[in-house]
Amino acid sequence: MGRIREKACDRCQTTTSVLYRVQSDESGTWQFVCDRCLPALKNDNPHYTYGGTWKARKRH
Ligand SMILES: [Zn+2]
Repeated sequence: MGRIREKACDRCQTTTSVLYRVQSDESGTWQFVCDRCLPALKNDNPHYTYGGTWKARKRH
């Protein structure tokens, strides 16, 4: 349909076109979070792992 697909942040449920894939605990579960939630997961977190950035638009 040509529309931009968006995803919701796993923490605050805000829909955005850019999300960060991260692990934030020892369970190893990947979460997709927005740029507002990212610092909260990152700060003082020994389990924080960055797994890439998800974007709604792909490069062509
Ligand atoms: Zn968020």
